[in-house]
Order: sequence, then structure tokens, then C-alpha cells
Amino acid sequence: MFEHITANEIAGYTVGALLVCATISAPKIDSFISVSQRRSLNMCTRCGNLKVVSCTKCKGSGAIKEEAFTFNLVDESYQSSSRPKSQSICMKCKGTGRFRCRECFKSP
Ligand SMILES: [Zn+2]
Ligand SMILES: [Zn+2]
Repeated sequence: MFEHITANEIAGYTVGALLVCATISAPKIDSFISVSQRRSLNMCTRCGNLKVVSCTKCKGSGAIKEEAFTFNLVDESYQSSSRPKSQSICMKCKGTGRFRCRECFKSP
């Protein structure tokens, strides 16, 4: 799900990791730093310049795992589809797993 990672993003994570080490006893400050540090690198504070944000419902996978699947009667039709029957397409993101970043695409 991180195939669009950029050099900026890697640099951001590197600096962020150092800051995390310095403030490891203050997790709340850690999240504050990651935002302010992205801002200082001129990165989008919402998506880190990825231009997309992961779907919160399916965590970017585009599919929802079904723990108790009760479609036994239609098993055959599900098996003929390309998706494993233990997963269903996330309706929130329509299976894409991500949305366009509103911060990057909002009108100025
Ligand atoms: Zn989703
Ligand atoms: Zn963005």
C-alpha cells in the first residue's frame, strides 16, 4: 500500500524517526512533530505529498475481510468471481483503497 513512497516521504520518515527517538516518552508530542515536520518540509500534512490518503475503513486494501461469511447458497457465483470469497469490496472507497487528498486538490 506504500508503493507511491517518494524521496521526500523517506526523508520525512527518517527525520521523524530521529525525533521519535528523542521524544519516545511523549507519544502525543510525536504525532504533533510529524505534522509540523511535514509542514517544514513543505509536504502536505494530510497525505505527505502522496496526493492520496488511505481509506480508513479498509486501511487501503480496498477489500473488507469477512469473518463470518454466510453466503453459502451463492458460493458458486462467488467462486467464479476473481475475488476470494473471504473478502468483499470496500464500499467506502469502491475497492480502490484510497481517496484523492482533499488538502492537495482543494481549490486555492
Ligand atoms: Zn476502503
Ligand atoms: Zn495532500
